[in-house]
Amino acid sequence: IYGSERPNSRGMNIHVEADREPLLKAMASWSDKQWQAGPVINGERRSDGDSKTVYAPHNQSDRVGQVVWTSEAHAREALDVASRAFPSWNERPVDERAACLERYADLMEKHMEELMAICCREAGKTLQDGIDEVREAVDFCRYYALQGRSRFGRPIALPGPTGESNELYLEGRGVFLCISPWNFPLAIYTGQVMAALVSGNTVIAKPAEQTSLVASRAFELMLEAGFPRDVIQFLPGDGATIGGTLVPDERIGGVAFTGSTGVAHLLNRQLADRKGAIVPLIAETGGQNAMIVDSSALPEQVVRDVVQSAFASAGQRCSALRVLYLQRDVADRMESLLAGAMKELTVGDPAYHNTDVGPVIDEEARAGLSRHLKELGASDARFVAETPLPDDCDKGCFIAPSAYGISGIGDLKTEHFGPILHVVRYEAEKLDQVIDSINAAGYGLTLGIHSRSEATAAYIERRVKVGNTYINRNQIGAVVGVQPFGGRGLSGTGPKAGGPHYLLRFATERTRTINT
Ligand code: GLU
Repeated sequence: IYGSERPNSRGMNIHVEADREPLLKAMASWSDKQWQAGPVINGERRSDGDSKTVYAPHNQSDRVGQVVWTSEAHAREALDVASRAFPSWNERPVDERAACLERYADLMEKHMEELMAICCREAGKTLQDGIDEVREAVDFCRYYALQGRSRFGRPIALPGPTGESNELYLEGRGVFLCISPWNFPLAIYTGQVMAALVSGNTVIAKPAEQTSLVASRAFELMLEAGFPRDVIQFLPGDGATIGGTLVPDERIGGVAFTGSTGVAHLLNRQLADRKGAIVPLIAETGGQNAMIVDSSALPEQVVRDVVQSAFASAGQRCSALRVLYLQRDVADRMESLLAGAMKELTVGDPAYHNTDVGPVIDEEARAGLSRHLKELGASDARFVAETPLPDDCDKGCFIAPSAYGISGIGDLKTEHFGPILHVVRYEAEKLDQVIDSINAAGYGLTLGIHSRSEATAAYIERRVKVGNTYINRNQIGAVVGVQPFGGRGLSGTGPKAGGPHYLLRFATERTRTINT
């Protein structure tokens, strides 16, 4: 099977005491650690500049560390270093570049508990999400190392007339700016940076403002793994300052971005307006993801998959289910099972192994989501179910997983990035209208289908225009090399992270013809 010739990432089962106890003990040893981060330029961490204190999303009095924010001068300096380093890194044999990725993967596994501890305290990740996070980061490294070797290792020989040799080969584009999101602060950050590096680019890594500490610790591991210090630069801080300084500079050879659709539009405009080379934007943005459930679906399975898709990671995944379409004949039963399942969820401290739903990322996110819930409550939306919050929820940024009935996806003007599910009832004969309205919303990331009719599932799958369709299962948690992940339309420019074509987006193709 394509891409399967690589070691599995290290796993852990938190429901098995023998795995859980050592993990909890290790994590406890970092429970009051103060992590530090700041711009790292040519291997040197800078401490000059404004700094921000980081507090845990689930406990706003738990101080996690301090981050020095990048200034414009830092950003310019980093770009000077990265652009000088490009030619020699690009000429290094891909085997050497790939070996750095593999060593970094091994180091992440070695430091898995610490990385999980930071993810938990800085990003509010539950233990399970922390395990998945590190494993995905490790998988990205090993997969792209393998891909890099096969794509960049040898030119492709092409036919030609006698006396002429023709070859096609790939090389890096220059300095790649990688702007990563807080919801996968290690996995997506690692995936972007490693894809760019193995392809021969040098990298400026700009982590999300909310999650610079885990990115910084991982950056130290990258240096330890042998990436030359001029090849990778680390710039935490304000997106407008860093992006505003770097994107207009024609030495930036490409931008990889995961985050909001609005920022992707802004980056696109900035790239279009600048002089010089025309370079790619690889954008993975949001979704208004739907699941369609018809009357042939198995109710218990639907409910399990809905709960997982809508509320795992507190709904803070681009792939998460936002709009559940239930065929009217089965809607009452499905909703009552869903309400029962939602009552059983545990919301709370992400470091407890029996917590299902942790906090949302910060107070701003909490306030926005709770405003949306208030608006739903005050509108003619129909209350369906809610998970109770713990008594001490005021100390952190918690949102109760909630479900409301609305009339259609068109009622939602924006993506609500949290544990809020919208339910729409539809008549069997109006399936085409459901499909049209999902497409009309303009996003195109994930789609869930629950149906025991293969013909229905195939019909919906062909017509709803998304990047990832999941039939009779949950619609989150794409696995590297198994479900290449990425969407279209308002959801992104289409490249599939963790897929066999991803590296091509970071490379430029060259043809060499020799008259022999
Ligand atoms: N790849 C993740 C998933 O399949 C989502 C990535 C994201 O939220 O950006 O759930």
